[in-house]
Amino acid sequence: MIKKYFNICKKTRKVLYVFLVVLFVLAILNLIIPIYASRIIDYLTIKNFDRFIKTTIIISLLFLITNLFSYFACKLYSVFFRETFINVHKMIMSKLYDYDDELINIPKGEIISTVNIDAINIAEMADYIFNIIFNMALIMCMLIFFIKTSLILGIMLLFVVTIYMILVNILTKKSSFYMREQRNYQDKLTNLLSQMLNGIREIKTFNMKSGLNKKYDELRRGWARKYMLKRKYVIAHDVTLKYIMYASRIILYILSAYLLFDNKITIGIIVLLINYFNNIFSSALELVSDVAVIRNYNISLDRVCVLLESTSNYNIYGTINNNLIYGHVLFKNVSFSYKNKPIIRNISFEAKPNKITAIIGKTGSGKTTLFNILLRLYKPDKGCVYIDDIKINEYTKDVYYNNVSVVNQESFLFNMSIKDNLSMVNKDINKQIEVCKRVGIHDLIVNFPKGYDTVLSENAGNLSGGQKRLLTLAKTLLTEAEILLFDEVTSSLDPATTKKIIKVLKDLKKDHTLIVITHKEEIMKVADQLIILDKGKIVVKGSYKKLAKNRYLKNLIGNKK
Ligand code: ATP
Ligand code: MG
Repeated sequence: MIKKYFNICKKTRKVLYVFLVVLFVLAILNLIIPIYASRIIDYLTIKNFDRFIKTTIIISLLFLITNLFSYFACKLYSVFFRETFINVHKMIMSKLYDYDDELINIPKGEIISTVNIDAINIAEMADYIFNIIFNMALIMCMLIFFIKTSLILGIMLLFVVTIYMILVNILTKKSSFYMREQRNYQDKLTNLLSQMLNGIREIKTFNMKSGLNKKYDELRRGWARKYMLKRKYVIAHDVTLKYIMYASRIILYILSAYLLFDNKITIGIIVLLINYFNNIFSSALELVSDVAVIRNYNISLDRVCVLLESTSNYNIYGTINNNLIYGHVLFKNVSFSYKNKPIIRNISFEAKPNKITAIIGKTGSGKTTLFNILLRLYKPDKGCVYIDDIKINEYTKDVYYNNVSVVNQESFLFNMSIKDNLSMVNKDINKQIEVCKRVGIHDLIVNFPKGYDTVLSENAGNLSGGQKRLLTLAKTLLTEAEILLFDEVTSSLDPATTKKIIKVLKDLKKDHTLIVITHKEEIMKVADQLIILDKGKIVVKGSYKKLAKNRYLKNLIGNKK
């Protein structure tokens, strides 16, 4: 765990080392101060005022130094906390941008918790790790002192403290087990909430409220059950275990009295023993509860490490940074399986510049998967995809995504103004207006009271489906990509908008390579070639005219009609 931790805190390691040194000094001061305090009592009992004054001055200085070092420790910890949080958060976020298929399969609730809570937990972890080391060292030193003063007393204390720590450990293990379960329920609740917010309209129209409430109720009850189980062990720890401490304190009083009457120790030493005794128990308690916290935080550390290590083996980009891409796409004997299930089987085809290639096929035939391969999201098991005769993974990330762009059925727009949404791709406002004109949405935008400054609500709920699609299309054109992929961009659109999009496609053909996945016959008609997929295989290729009588095509069009 410590190795993992130090790896994650690479950038803030130096602060961590200084923090450790400061804590070490503090530990020594914590041991020394009670010794001087006991001496003060001894000098008072023998009425040696000279030494009393000297020792009081020394102890005052020690207090001052302790406070100064505590201040340093707090300051260093703040710096460490801030920097570590920022770094870990940054690392997680850059991983999220580089998402791959594995990440898509992690529930959103868990990702949100990972970004928000785990990054904080990791930043806090150092404090606990060092506290554990600090308390362990203190307990050892104090026990050695007890053994040196009286062997029986030392052995008794060693025994009691060991039993105490074992019991506390068992209880905290149990309570942290239930805490983890409680957290699982919390994640599930967050996840359900985020899904609910996404689908609030469907929930209303399908009247799913009562079903959803049942689900919420189940999760809430689960959460409460685990919370109560956790509390049961916390209470057992807080109330029952204290008896051990009280009993051993009584034994300490009796043994100290015996040693004092036997003239083996002084009153000052008794004060020191009582001081150390209290410190041992509070350190032991802190130690075990810190271990429990660390155990919980370790889950955060593991989750973040899993996330950071989840590099898809395909996120390796090449070095070719020639931006002059012509746009000739070639799939050569490409096969791809998802978890050993073959999805794409030995596919070869080419999509030429200034042509529209339409990929058609039944649902689940592998059309979107082909796009995902072309977008370098999935790595083919066999075969290769080339652009301008260069393997696609040989291009740098920037060059690649500047030249290959996709418009999906689900348009994604941020809860920002239209201008800001477009500016994330290209800041040039004239260019923005030009592309909006090209897709025929400019007039609509300028008719909004705030024009390009109109703020889109979440999921662009204030635009119609067609408008959203057109705006996403405009955004895609801003990338100046040579190769444009369209995944069912006209599905669920009215004939007028479909016509508009077809016009845009014809226009874009003049200076792009277009590959469209479609079920619409109108688009098949304007395509230069059709590629018909069935169960991951190409069954037939050719123009719409050539394939007009083909049974696969007839079936597909028939399906749609
Ligand atoms: P549609 O017309 O419905 O969009 P499609 O032709 O685009 O269908 P794909 O999305 O490519 O189909 O899916 C092809 C097959 O691959 C399906 O059987 C699907 O279950 C499987 N598949 C694709 N991606 C994944 C994934 N991430 N996890 C599991 N299975 C997947
Ligand atoms: Mg699809």
